[in-house]
Parts: sequence; structure tokens; C-alpha cells
Amino acid sequence: MTGPGVGMHPLLSPWGRFGLYSFYIDAPEPAIVDTGVASSPAEGMAPALAELGRDIADVRWILLTHGHIDHVGGAHALWELTGRRAQVVIHAADAHLVRSRRAHVELYLDVRGNYLDDPGAEAKQTAMAQTAISGEMEPSLLVQGGETLSLGGGVSVSVHHIPGHTAGSVAYVVDGQDAVFVGDAVQVHGAANGFPGYEDPAAYRTSLLHLRDEVRPQHLYLGHPYRTTCGEVYGVELDAAQSDRALQESLDIEARVATAAQHCPLDDSQLTGSAYSPFTGAAAELGYRGDPRLEPSPFFTTLHGYLGHTTTKEAHHHGR
Ligand SMILES: [Zn+2]
Repeated sequence: MTGPGVGMHPLLSPWGRFGLYSFYIDAPEPAIVDTGVASSPAEGMAPALAELGRDIADVRWILLTHGHIDHVGGAHALWELTGRRAQVVIHAADAHLVRSRRAHVELYLDVRGNYLDDPGAEAKQTAMAQTAISGEMEPSLLVQGGETLSLGGGVSVSVHHIPGHTAGSVAYVVDGQDAVFVGDAVQVHGAANGFPGYEDPAAYRTSLLHLRDEVRPQHLYLGHPYRTTCGEVYGVELDAAQSDRALQESLDIEARVATAAQHCPLDDSQLTGSAYSPFTGAAAELGYRGDPRLEPSPFFTTLHGYLGHTTTKEAHHHGR
């Protein structure tokens, strides 16, 4: 679609230290990108849409950028508010996170749980999945990337697979407007934890390059307010120049993290007692002083991702 195009509206749902952003695409078949947590549709989205003169019951597409709890937690509740008429869309590789609360607990145990010595963590994660996720469900449409979804009236959305933050991260691109919704796939310096979070560093870099060189957003919509290298907060709606800068900074920061991960030997937390262990050296080289244990612990998720590409996997001395 060309011409004036459809409107995009951010819908904010605060959650603890986090600002969770969903976006309303004001198409003939309206869409909401990402759903916050269980309470977000009723408490955050419905009133915001009412102010725009729109009814949440009319939403026909629930477009999930990836499977993390703060993006899919409200999916079932939103689907219910549409009379179960909306299509729930997610990449096949993250679909288990919509189907199962337990999948979120296992994600924690498989990655961050290797580094965080908290015997109560499994119970805490289980309780959080219970409250933050509104319901388990089978998504109505699994995508792989390359699909085009019709939102009626000539409005279409293209799906691009941009793995790295998670295996099933996608971008939704409103065709003809180069308006691009990426969820958390462009991390810059990270959100509330001040560290970029991605599971697969090589895929993350490839996806950033794809966005920068092929997709070339005119408008880039992010799932959280991120920070620049100088600590300045980005908005969640970036214009073309800001988008270029966010993509380039994300690439530059990934390169710095990669260098630190490759240079610095792994240590033994039994000996150091460091909260950053076994990546104490990398944290020092990067000057990272944030609390690495604060959920969702992007420091450990990201550094863990470099292990396969660097030295040994014996660092998993807490492995379960
Ligand atoms: Zn995420």
C-alpha cells in the first residue's frame, strides 16, 4: 500500500522495571504486535484503544515478534477479548513458548540457570509463568519468514525471520511504508539491565545486517526503550536516521562483546565468588557493572551464546 498509509499506535503496559510496548496497526483488519503480560490487554491496551476510538474486540491479528514472556504473556487474554476471532501468529521456532508455560521455566534452566546459584529459581520461574502468562494455546498460524499477511484494504505485512535474540524472532514489515516491528531483535545496549540480550551471536549479527542492508526501515518500532552507548534512552518509534544509528550501534556493541568473550578466559565461581563468574574477565573488559543476576539476566544469556564459538563448554560447572 502506498499513499498516506495506515496508522501505528504504541500501547504501553508497565511491568515492574520494564516498559512493555505493543503496537496497534490501524488496518481494515486491525493488528496488535506483541501482547505484554497477562494483565496488559485488559489494563493497558483496551483503554488506550478506546481513547483512539477503536475496540479491542475488532482486532483480527495478534502478531508475536518472539516467544519471551513479556511479549506473549497477554496473547491468550487478547485472543479471548477478540471472541477468539484473531489469528495468533508466531515463528515455528518460538511456538512452544505460546503452547506451554513450562517452556519458559525450561528456557531459564537451560541457559541462565547454569550461572545463577538460586535453589528457589525454578519455583520462582514457575510462579512467574503462572501469573504473567494468561493461558496456554495453539497458535493459529506458524510462520518461517517470507510470508505476506493481508490485513484487508490492500494493507499487507511481510514476515522476515531475524533470529538471534531468540531462534524464532521475526520482523513484521508493513509493505509500502517500510514500517518495521522488531520486538527485541535490535538490542543496542540493552533495556532495563544495560546489557544486550541474544541467544545466538552469529545469527543476531546476520539479522542486524539484514535489517540494515535489505529491509532498511523508514520507521522502526522496538519492544522496549533501549539506551545508546552514552546512556541516552531511545524512544520506541525511530525514524530512518535513528534506525540506522540503532542498527549500527547494535552491530558495534556485538563486536565489542564478541572480542571480550573471546579474549577473556573463563574463571571458576567457586574460587572467585564473582557475580559475573565465569565471565568476570569479559565483564571487566566491557566495563559492565550492572547486576548480572537481575532478571532476565541478558549478561548470562548472551555470554553463554559465545561459548560454542570460543573455547570450552566445561564452564557449565553448575550444569543441571
Ligand atoms: Zn525478548
